[in-house]
Amino acid sequence: MQKGKINVQTENIFPVIKKFLYSEHDIFIRELVANAVDATQKLKTLVNLGSASVDLGDLTIEVQVDKEKKQIRIIDRGIGMTAEEVDKYINQIAFSSAEEFLSKYKGTDSANIIGHFGLGFYSSFMVASSVEILTKSYLEEMPAVKWSCDGSPDYEMTACEKIDRGTEIILNIAEDAIEFLDEHKIVGLLKKYCRFLPVPIRCGNEKIWEKPEGEEQEKEVEKPRIINNTNPIWKEAPNNLKEEDYLTFYRELYPMSFEEPLFQIHLNVDYPFTLNGILYFPKVKNQFEIQKNKVQLYCNQVFITDQLEGIIPEFMMLLHGVIDSPDIPLNVSRSYLQSDSNVKKISTHITKKVAEKLEEMFKNNREDFEKKWDDIKIFIQYGSIADEKFYERAKNFFLFKNTEEKYFTMEEYQNHISVLQKDKHDTLVYLYASDVDAQHLYIGTAKEKGYDILLMDGPLDTHFINMLEPKLEKSKFARVDADIIDKLIEKDEIQPAKLSEKEQEKLKTLFSDMTDKEKFSIQVENLSETDLPIMITQNEFMRRFQDMEKITGQQGMYGRFEHYNIIINANHVIAGKILSEKSKKKKEALTQQLIDLALLSQNILSGEKLSEFVKRSIELL
Ligand code: ADP
Repeated sequence: MQKGKINVQTENIFPVIKKFLYSEHDIFIRELVANAVDATQKLKTLVNLGSASVDLGDLTIEVQVDKEKKQIRIIDRGIGMTAEEVDKYINQIAFSSAEEFLSKYKGTDSANIIGHFGLGFYSSFMVASSVEILTKSYLEEMPAVKWSCDGSPDYEMTACEKIDRGTEIILNIAEDAIEFLDEHKIVGLLKKYCRFLPVPIRCGNEKIWEKPEGEEQEKEVEKPRIINNTNPIWKEAPNNLKEEDYLTFYRELYPMSFEEPLFQIHLNVDYPFTLNGILYFPKVKNQFEIQKNKVQLYCNQVFITDQLEGIIPEFMMLLHGVIDSPDIPLNVSRSYLQSDSNVKKISTHITKKVAEKLEEMFKNNREDFEKKWDDIKIFIQYGSIADEKFYERAKNFFLFKNTEEKYFTMEEYQNHISVLQKDKHDTLVYLYASDVDAQHLYIGTAKEKGYDILLMDGPLDTHFINMLEPKLEKSKFARVDADIIDKLIEKDEIQPAKLSEKEQEKLKTLFSDMTDKEKFSIQVENLSETDLPIMITQNEFMRRFQDMEKITGQQGMYGRFEHYNIIINANHVIAGKILSEKSKKKKEALTQQLIDLALLSQNILSGEKLSEFVKRSIELL
């Protein structure tokens, strides 16, 4: 028997491990199973290379939960260890990595540490009061070894009777961790962390309904419960996969999701780093319910985390799927990760790939791309707002949709409106509507002039316009109800005035006296006789500020007062009629009627004012 002290500086490192990683006790199972998988893969490699001649047999890794003995056992049939190797890998190397880890992160917030710690084997002391290793090397002549340690730096090592090749780790579960002696809980953890590991993992049995051969009826039978899918499709070459395979995999990843994804991007990178993954585009539509934390990060098929802030670009978090990369440094804190150059490279690369794929889809099948557009628009806008580089690519396939549901690329649209919608200062005016029903009247007026109107009814549209406008040369965006159409696109023609300046002034006073000055400004304009007698508009920029405040959830200075312009057409017959009306009462009634009609057209006449309007209308009739 060999007794020894693990080479420790801090006398009692185990209580520290326990306390420090309090919130992440779960991960011991991942670390131990990952070791078992590594040991199995190593053996397979040796056999494949011809360096070992053993009968591999059934390589299933077994996780046993033994309530009676208060043990959890992880058993593999991998490479095993000789006494010398236990000494080297467990007593020296594994320990030093645990210690190094702790000295590095003492005092940091444990919540800030991302999934994998490189703590490996010693994480078992988070849940175990003592740990035994029974191991036998694949080298047949080497005797089996038993190693045990009770959480103090003292360990014992003896020879033991073990016939099977491989390693069995026995955790004697500590009193304060007995919740782990529940098979369901362990199955849950295995399904979370080990779901796509490349070696079959079994935990207990499960009952399933099956039709035995030659029999008519299904019968309930007990079978070994295998936790994992050993061949997740993200490792495969995209050429070998069909659409259906991707869908099946999506359903496996998100069994609770009813919606099917729109399409996916299979990432397959070997240089300058290794990364595999599948990113699915979900149907987000216009409801801005972002489901973040749907993308799962794996490291060599071991689940690490679904909290990907800082690892992939924020807007990619709208996507679903998996990313697997051994090159993301995981034994570091989150804040460190965000500044890591490898992580930045990976993040940039994913962005580039996604943009390329979208462009390819657009080029290969525009019709299909247009069909998907309404669903992916929000993602592309988000990406363009957040990331200049993404925008640079996206501008080739970003689509504008007009109120007639026609789609244009940005370039096509520019050409489409370039003749008619240039104002007298040579500025190209992009007209848009955010609600076809509510802005129906304004859309109609603009269309009569031959103008085209974009539909901008998405939650990020205002944001997007703010981003886009300064990038386009001599261009501006205006919602159709931001002003009278001849002011939105100012031309050189001057409408002759039918009323004198004095009369116009009178008209303005009349209307001003009858409206709430805090909320409305009165403007008298010489429009065409055939234009409407009165219009109500809302300044483009004030409205955009309000929209932005709504998106960011702030109630700032712009939201507090909504301000509108009431525009009176001095050339309309009604304007003259009101002015020449002798009866003061009738004059006021007509004025009020006109104001109310304008308010009604913007859907802002309600309550008492609306009742008065109805009564007055009847009287006037
Ligand atoms: P890491 O896995 O990061 O190297 P660990 O502390 O988990 O660190 O393990 C240290 C070493 O112990 C491993 O590199 C491996 O050589 C050995 N080891 C651990 N578990 C097993 C196992 N089940 N079978 C064979 N060797 C193992």
